[in-house]
Amino acid sequence: MQCATVKEGVECALMTDKGCGFAAGACLPIIEQCQGCDRAQEFSSGKFCLTFPDPPLKWKRGLCNLATHVQPELKAQAAKINPLKASKRAARGKR
Ligand code: SF4
Repeated sequence: MQCATVKEGVECALMTDKGCGFAAGACLPIIEQCQGCDRAQEFSSGKFCLTFPDPPLKWKRGLCNLATHVQPELKAQAAKINPLKASKRAARGKR
């Protein structure tokens, strides 16, 4: 169904007859890290991601996996780092 909140006219799986199904009630605006991404689009209500309703969450634990402006090598490198294993490795190194 087409969005009737902040991204008017955009097809969205979260939009229902009863309104936006996203917990915040509408998509959150993009953040600084999203600048330059092809998925960030300007609307009359502001700049929003065409894919994710919550861009800050996508960047919370590192690089956004669908960012078009981040080099693929960096994304692959970020995806390979398991924080738990990295922590254990670091602890082993300190002994
Ligand atoms: S795909 Fe990721 S980087 Fe691009 S606008 Fe959306 S949240 Fe931001």
